[in-house]
Amino acid sequence: MRALPWLPPDLARQVARHMREFHSGAAMAAAWPSSFHRLGGGQDLATGIRAQCERLTAAIRSRAPFADVVAGFGVLAHFAVDLNAPFSGAEDGDAYAQSFASYVPSAAPRIPFVFYGQERATIRGTAAKLPGAMALRHGEVDLLELIVREDLDRIGGPRAWRSLDDRSSTFGTASLLLNHSTTDFVNLAAWVWYHAGGLVPDLPVGKDMILVWKGEPQPREAPGPRLALRQARP
Ligand SMILES: [Zn+2]
Repeated sequence: MRALPWLPPDLARQVARHMREFHSGAAMAAAWPSSFHRLGGGQDLATGIRAQCERLTAAIRSRAPFADVVAGFGVLAHFAVDLNAPFSGAEDGDAYAQSFASYVPSAAPRIPFVFYGQERATIRGTAAKLPGAMALRHGEVDLLELIVREDLDRIGGPRAWRSLDDRSSTFGTASLLLNHSTTDFVNLAAWVWYHAGGLVPDLPVGKDMILVWKGEPQPREAPGPRLALRQARP
């Protein structure tokens, strides 16, 4: 699970212990009505994220079993992917959307583990500020969708997705999807942990810096020797 190195370590260890519940929570969220997965409207993605964060904080404070709490974090992780996923507004059966959905898991093992930064102001801010912060993150998704459509057309159409290589812009888009959703999930999970009274250690941050994790993702020990700082690429 790509978020483990960046989560507050005490929370990361609980998630690692209850991985099965985490995945079942994420699968459960996938089956919810489609308006829950998109921005806009009364019961949309942003309000769902805020509600889920507040529910999780209350559950931890009332000492709910950690298996249940971690399942709730799985739901939150699904929402973080929705927030960053191109084609979220595509019609059912869109061939480009289907190709991209098949491509991402096939490329995932080759995508490095990158964290785009700890948002301390969001983590320590009120729940009311979460939907706005999340909507901002959604801004570039339409552009990414366009890039994937053009890239697939370049190689002969959506059915040719298996011939995309790792220098393709679709590979770049898949990397952004996985690492941006991981970053958003980590910041939201840190919001929950912080507001539930847990310890959220600062991660090293610098202007235009990103963090890269080497090796299999696992809960970090601070200070981690496996953290590398790298200049962010535009
Ligand atoms: Zn969804």
